[in-house]
Amino acid sequence: MGHLWTPWRSTYLKDKRDRTACIFCLAAASTGDEESLIVHRARLNFIILNRYPYTSGHLMIAPYQHVSRLQQVDDETSAEMMRLVRRSEQLLEQTYQPQGINLGMNLGEAAGAGIEQHIHMHVLPRWFGDANFMTSVGSTRIIPEELSVTWARLSHAFQDE
Ligand SMILES: [Zn+2]
Repeated sequence: MGHLWTPWRSTYLKDKRDRTACIFCLAAASTGDEESLIVHRARLNFIILNRYPYTSGHLMIAPYQHVSRLQQVDDETSAEMMRLVRRSEQLLEQTYQPQGINLGMNLGEAAGAGIEQHIHMHVLPRWFGDANFMTSVGSTRIIPEELSVTWARLSHAFQDE
């Protein structure tokens, strides 16, 4: 699935050079969820929008714990993560009516992890033709919805549950 996450990679790498701390830990520690793009905080994990989304509604579920491997979190954390994956699936379907959803976790840089030191599960809505479209326009990504709009829609959806 590595190719799925590559369109934003060149942009991401430019940003990465300016960062010294883990963006997941920074976001979790921040008090401004809208600014840090956190749409939901659970007890052991939080849900954050991808700042370089592949499609609208592309979110990531990460534990508060700074770990690089799934085997390093306890059963309770991984069980909550899976519950949040299921809730995300449901809310993304209600909010965006996608034709499919990708779930994925890249462990280690060789597997395509952009931020390899802190695990995160990608959940992203898919539509027929979105990948073909990406190929046809090369490195230019068309994001049909502003991140602030996605944040408002999804943070409210999680709140309303
Ligand atoms: Zn971290």
